[in-house]
Amino acid sequence: MAVKRVIKGVHVVPMGKANAFLIEGEDGLTLIDAGFPGKEAAVFEAIRGLGRAPDQLKHLIFTHGHPDHIGSAAAIIRTTNARTYMHPLDIPIAESGGPFRPMEGAPGLLRQALCRLFYDHNERVPPVAIDLPLADGDILPIAGGIEVIHTPGHCAGQVALLWRPGRMLFAGDVCMNVMGLGDPVGFENLQDGRASQRKLASLSFDAAGFGHGEPISRDASMRFRNQWGKK
Ligand SMILES: [Zn+2]
Ligand SMILES: [Zn+2]
Repeated sequence: MAVKRVIKGVHVVPMGKANAFLIEGEDGLTLIDAGFPGKEAAVFEAIRGLGRAPDQLKHLIFTHGHPDHIGSAAAIIRTTNARTYMHPLDIPIAESGGPFRPMEGAPGLLRQALCRLFYDHNERVPPVAIDLPLADGDILPIAGGIEVIHTPGHCAGQVALLWRPGRMLFAGDVCMNVMGLGDPVGFENLQDGRASQRKLASLSFDAAGFGHGEPISRDASMRFRNQWGKK
């Protein structure tokens, strides 16, 4: 599967059932999330597709520590030496490679089935060392500025990332865009998850990327407001 442009400077890397994103900055490449285990070739292929070399990947930022977002990280780091970033609540999980925290299926039969099918909290993945902890409100001096927004619920250590120069939000699994914008497959805490969805709906951005489903290139915050904003 080929790398696909979302907006200028951002490409989606399809890694099977999960997405990762590459941001091109003047300071090199930044990868958001790292797919299931065994998917590192998709990242290297995407980097080469942009006319770059894997050693130009400088940063790997995780939205959260789930198997489908950290699985290929260890293999990617071995080849690239990128610095890794994650919220402290998920760092011990990434550094041990599991087990993960249990999650309940989101409301609705489809999501409950998908949650049982794709999420096993006893799964183990290759451990990955984290270099820098992320905190809510941080503005990372990467690619012109990436804002960190703590968004627990689906996963206690989940963050959304807002790339300011391109006004693109990386929502992780706060929501997904599979057959429309909606809930992720499951939550550790549904109330916290709803609060995080409302938090993102209060922000202003143009484009949005998700751990699962199609990215949105424009008018994305309007879609979030329609779904979770003040009525
Ligand atoms: Zn997840
Ligand atoms: Zn996911």
